[in-house]
Amino acid sequence: MEIIRIPRIVRETSRIHRSRGRSVGFVPTMGALHEGHLSLVRRAKAENDVVVVSVFVNPSQFGPNEDFEHYPRTVENDLALLEHVGVDTAFLPPVEAMYPEGFQTVISVGALAGRLCGAFRVGHFNGVLTVVNKLFNIVQPTRAYFGQKDFQQTVVIRRMVEDLNMDIEIIVCPTVREEDGLAMSSRNAYLGEDERRAAPVLYRTLTRAAEMIRGGDTTPEAVVRVMHEMLRSEPLVTEVQYAGVYDPGTLDSLVEFRRTTLLAIALLLGKTRLIDNMVVERVAKN
Ligand code: AMP
Repeated sequence: MEIIRIPRIVRETSRIHRSRGRSVGFVPTMGALHEGHLSLVRRAKAENDVVVVSVFVNPSQFGPNEDFEHYPRTVENDLALLEHVGVDTAFLPPVEAMYPEGFQTVISVGALAGRLCGAFRVGHFNGVLTVVNKLFNIVQPTRAYFGQKDFQQTVVIRRMVEDLNMDIEIIVCPTVREEDGLAMSSRNAYLGEDERRAAPVLYRTLTRAAEMIRGGDTTPEAVVRVMHEMLRSEPLVTEVQYAGVYDPGTLDSLVEFRRTTLLAIALLLGKTRLIDNMVVERVAKN
């Protein structure tokens, strides 16, 4: 596995692969890698000739009071995992290489970025899109892989790719969970023992809500009420930022169920912010 820190060199390497007809699969990450990340890498390996993984904790997607400084950084372990799964190139740019002096261009998305997480993390999705756009220009992938875990992120990235006519296939992979249902996340490392025990409340709530929807004879209002009740019944939950039923395309709250429903939650468990979601298909009844 090659470890490259200089954007120009990654771009040159990719250019050579593409000119020889090889497909390049790309998995952008912020490191502190876990099985969720590795599932994306394995899929990229299965579908492409060459796989590039970036590890970059992107400062522009963190708010001033967020955890940029404390975000877990486990580079040695990350590199060992990437080597083990057979990645071709690990791209680890320093912040100065991505945001050199004088940097001032940003990608900004419209209404989608203000919904759900965007309402609580102002500017977050502009930071995400700007760095993903930069990474796409550097890596020039054939396909890029993202996790459903960050559902809104996949929606804004697909929007950018379509709006800006980018020639990249976006592939969204299922959320990988711990045995008790907790979605794997680098931020789970922040959880204390009691918080970790309480954390599956997100998955339990999503599962219960999905059952209600699949069972029919319910309304969005009733489902949202049950979701809030379940989350509030966990004493370690300090704030429910949102919990509800949404249109997976527009991210608008649903007033009546259609074929596909996005269930999504963001909350604080102690001081740790956790998100999770589930997409539910309603089978039409005759
Ligand atoms: P991050 O390092 O948190 O920025 O995540 C990098 C990529 O891995 C994103 O596309 C995430 O959606 C994806 N990812 C993170 N956690 C999981 C998970 N538990 N299952 C599947 N994909 C994940």
